[in-house]
Amino acid sequence: MRIDVVSIFPEYLEPLKLSLIGKARQDGLLSLDVHDLRDFTTDRHRTVDDTPYGGGAGMVMKPEPWAQALESVLPPEAERGAAETAGDSRPVLIVPSPAGARFTQAMAYELAEEEHLVFACGRYEGIDERVLDWSRERFDVRPVSLGDYVLNGGEVAVMAMVEAIGRLVPGVVGNAESLIEESHSDGLLEYPVYTKPSSWREHEVPEVLLSGNHGKIARWRRHQQFERTAERRPDLLEEFDATALPGADREAFAQLGYDVVDGRLRRRPEAG
Ligand code: SAM
Repeated sequence: MRIDVVSIFPEYLEPLKLSLIGKARQDGLLSLDVHDLRDFTTDRHRTVDDTPYGGGAGMVMKPEPWAQALESVLPPEAERGAAETAGDSRPVLIVPSPAGARFTQAMAYELAEEEHLVFACGRYEGIDERVLDWSRERFDVRPVSLGDYVLNGGEVAVMAMVEAIGRLVPGVVGNAESLIEESHSDGLLEYPVYTKPSSWREHEVPEVLLSGNHGKIARWRRHQQFERTAERRPDLLEEFDATALPGADREAFAQLGYDVVDGRLRRRPEAG
C-alpha cells in the first residue's frame, strides 16, 4: 500500500515511524510519504490561508497550494489513464473533517484493500470547498470524521486512521488471528483479557480461564462480549446482524433482555 499525507506540520506525523507501522514501512509492506503543503506555495511567506468569503471568524486554506500538492502525488497522467483502462481504482483522497462520515472499523477494512491512499490535513476553518470538487475528477474523495468533536487539525485524525488501516494490511500484524477477535471486527466489543499472576492485589482471574477447558472458555468469552457490548455500547447491538446467531447465543442475549426479531436484536421493554 502507498500512503501520502499532505500537511503544514509534517513533524506531527513522525510517530508513524515507530512501532508496527514504522516496521511495516521498513519492511516495505507500506510506503508512507509526508509532504509539506508550504512547499507548494509561490510567495515569500509561503502562505496557505486567507480570509473567508462571506466574512466570519478564522481563516480558510487556499486552493492552489492544495491542487499543486495533490497533483504531485498523483500517478503521471498517462499511467493514470492506463490504470483506469485496466479497471484499477483511482487513489482515494481522505479529507479529515468533523463534517465527514464517521470512521469505523468497517471503513478501515475497506480502505486497507486500496492501493493508494492520500490524506489531506486541514487546519484553520478547513480547506476551500472547491479543492474537493476539483479532486473528485482525479480521486475517489472521502471526507471522514474521527468522531463528533473538533480537533485543531487533521494530523491526529490521520495518525489514528493510518494506524487502524495499516494494521489490517496483510503482514503488518504478526499474528493475523489477533485481528479476528478484536472489538468491532464482528460488530461486538472484545471480552476482557488477563495475564499472570492469577491472583493480584486480592483481584482474581476468572476461574474458567484457568480451567484448561477450551469450549467453556470460548463460551465464557462470547458471553462477556455480549454483556460488555450491552452495557457499554447498546447502539452496536441495534446494528448487529443476528440472522445466523446460534441458539446458545440467542439464549445468552435473552438473559440480557434481548430477543431476536426479524434478524435484529430488540431489547424487551420490560428489561429497562
Ligand atoms: N470549521 C470546521 C468545522 O466546523 O467543520 C472545523 C475545522 S478544524 C478546527 C480544522 C481541521 O481539523 C479540519 O479541517 C480537519 O482537517 C481537522 N478535524 C477537526 N476535527 C476533526 C474530526 N472530528 N475528524 C477529522 N478531522 C478533524
